[in-house]
Amino acid sequence: MSLIVQKFGGSSVSDADGIKRVARRIMDTRAQGHDVVVVVSAMGDTTDDLLDLAGQLTDDAPAREMDMLLSSGERISMALLAMAIDAAGGKAVSFTGSQAGMVTDAVHGKARIIEVSPDRVRKAIERQHVAIVAGFQGMSKDSHNITTMGRGGSDTTAVALAAALDADVCEIYTDVDGVYTADPRIVSSAQKIDKISSEEMLEMAASGAKVLHLRCVEYARRFGVPLHVRSSFSTNEGTWVLPSPDDKIKIQEGEPLEQPIISGVAHDRSEAKVTVVGVPDIPGKAAEIFGVIAGANSNIDMIVQNVSTAGRGKTDISFTLPIVEGKDALAALHEAQERIGFEGVEYNEKIGKLSLIGAGMRSNPGVSFRFFEALSAAGVNVDMISTSEIRISIVTDADKLDTAVKAVHTAFNLDSDDAATVYGGTGR
Ligand code: ASP
Ligand code: MG
Repeated sequence: MSLIVQKFGGSSVSDADGIKRVARRIMDTRAQGHDVVVVVSAMGDTTDDLLDLAGQLTDDAPAREMDMLLSSGERISMALLAMAIDAAGGKAVSFTGSQAGMVTDAVHGKARIIEVSPDRVRKAIERQHVAIVAGFQGMSKDSHNITTMGRGGSDTTAVALAAALDADVCEIYTDVDGVYTADPRIVSSAQKIDKISSEEMLEMAASGAKVLHLRCVEYARRFGVPLHVRSSFSTNEGTWVLPSPDDKIKIQEGEPLEQPIISGVAHDRSEAKVTVVGVPDIPGKAAEIFGVIAGANSNIDMIVQNVSTAGRGKTDISFTLPIVEGKDALAALHEAQERIGFEGVEYNEKIGKLSLIGAGMRSNPGVSFRFFEALSAAGVNVDMISTSEIRISIVTDADKLDTAVKAVHTAFNLDSDDAATVYGGTGR
């Protein structure tokens, strides 16, 4: 008998039928003799709807109240799911994040986990109940306020519980059959990946693949939790994310020993580009600029500095950051403009980022050539470039992004003959 943590995303519990289906799934797992702990997201697009609603009242909501609001979405689904299990003859008990012992820091909207002490969850398991925990939320250790962990954070709740409870596996149930070589909503010929290393999965998630929360992958890797990403709408085997090198992808007989070079194409529309124009080209100015950005609590992604124009002694520095952090970063830059001595700031939200990911990339020449050739043939203009050992990313116009994703996916022979199934959800 094993302990399984099962996390169900918003599209899996989007209405009463979905909740019943999930309840049956949980009871089936119990009937197979396993203990089950469940983590749920808010129903369907509830979190977005709550954000829209708050946006109609203010564009500067107090962070504490925003977390109170958003955490309510997961509480609705946890209670309804417990009722559905009860109605089907099972035993379940639901817990908020704080009741389940998810202790975080006090940074509202992107709180990080400090401690997990799931005593009540353990007791529920001992009493043979299904424990259902509201995802994406916790309680601040210092202020005791309710916090949320950032969009998509329920995945991280699930992995953190799996690690604390020493679960055998953490299953992430979603609206597609697993992790695909590209978002199947854009590339219908995308293929399901059977096994992926956590290193590659980290790059995919960091590059915008929304199927798993980045911090969930980091957490799973750190604590060696095996992840199984699969659909709640089918019983198909999903994608295994292997946490440690000991769990190296097992090569079947007859398969080539070198793994395929490329694991997939990820894209991201959630970033904006900031250009600081006319920065004095002398040592220390970049540090001053990024000091200001760090002070505004922004996460910088790509950075490009132009060659300084001869004789002018000035340069432009561009970088990308999450759109949601754009307003604060711009305000901080404007405030420091005179002191640092740059000429102005430009801001563009209509950009998209595309990343090609694969562990085999570092030892295979020709990958960049094929990548840029595909983009050029598709008429995609490249605005910024960054690379790691296992990734190449570019920024282009937002409205060229889908074309770019399809072109690169095809150029690396990732297309399959069968169309991928998207069972539900809007991908919003
Ligand atoms: N409900 C939250 C969101 O929409 C958390 C999650 O789904 O993981 O981001
Ligand atoms: Mg999610």
